[in-house]
Amino acid sequence: MKNNFNINNLVRANIKALKAYSSARDEFKGTADVFLDANENPFGDLNRYPDPQQIEIKEKLSAIKNVETNQIFVGNGSDEVIDLAFRIFCEPGKDKVLTFSPTYGMYDVSANINNIEVIEQPLINDFQISLNQLQPYLDFEELKIIFICSPNNPTGNSINPEDIEYILENFNGIVIVDEAYIDFSSQASFIKKIDKYNNLIVSQTFSKAWGLAGVRVGVAYANEAIIKLYNRVKPPYNVSTLNQEAVLKSLNNVEEVTQNIDTILLERTKLNDALSTLSIVKKVYPTDANFLLVEVDDANKTYQYLIEKKVIIRNRNTQVENCIRITVGTKEENEKLISALKNIN
Ligand code: PMP
Repeated sequence: MKNNFNINNLVRANIKALKAYSSARDEFKGTADVFLDANENPFGDLNRYPDPQQIEIKEKLSAIKNVETNQIFVGNGSDEVIDLAFRIFCEPGKDKVLTFSPTYGMYDVSANINNIEVIEQPLINDFQISLNQLQPYLDFEELKIIFICSPNNPTGNSINPEDIEYILENFNGIVIVDEAYIDFSSQASFIKKIDKYNNLIVSQTFSKAWGLAGVRVGVAYANEAIIKLYNRVKPPYNVSTLNQEAVLKSLNNVEEVTQNIDTILLERTKLNDALSTLSIVKKVYPTDANFLLVEVDDANKTYQYLIEKKVIIRNRNTQVENCIRITVGTKEENEKLISALKNIN
């Protein structure tokens, strides 16, 4: 690695000094006959606290993703992965993060909640990073995190992996590669690079390809030092028993998940083709995700019209002029959308 990344220079002083909470289940993990250590109620089905380290999930993910269990953090959605990064690495009122716009809105909101300034770099030339424009910021001492969303929301495209690697090589801070949509993409995940780059956090989620948005489970993959910090800062029981069970059920049924991804990708192609033939559509952007960014004559009008037809899409006009973002649904849902759009005037 070319950079001078040193995690000790990056972690906030209060986090470095933090004495982490040690829960009952952290202190005793084995099997026993009688548990009277956690002030739990002895009656009921969900009366026991969940595993605070989500070991079963991590063991399954370790096998699937080919990483060590100590390189995995499981969170309350990937929104928790994002928020904890601010709390670990960014000094409120002092530090900065950098995002490439347009992108996922929570980086900004999480920064605001944590009183961190956001430097916004516009994506250029089909929504790619301009390394020239980025270059001066790479040496900014107060810049602690660079967020790269790939495939990017709301544009759908993947960010050039060579550019991501250049940033990892040349930035002394943390690089979060948000791969919420990676399972819909033909691009390789950056997970395989966590051994090479100790400033890399790859964020993934069970909310998209795994179909478990209601469950709220996200995952961070990084080197052990970063994962240790995440574990110290997270709430003790951040993933409930019900949520862990739902994820395990899905991890035991990967075939169904794969089939659903294949169906969504097939529908994505059909939706892309159908949208391209509509007179109001100016451009359907190429996508590596389960949604399409579509430029229309008048995004506000199209959005309102579809609401009247009881079809809800996302109006992204304020991010990309006259663009709407359409999630790929079932065959029937997509057909409903297309037939509504055919009748717009
Ligand atoms: N990252 C991106 C790029 C997203 O689009 C989303 C959700 N829309 C998230 C993260 C948050 O996902 P989760 O449900 O895991 O919190």
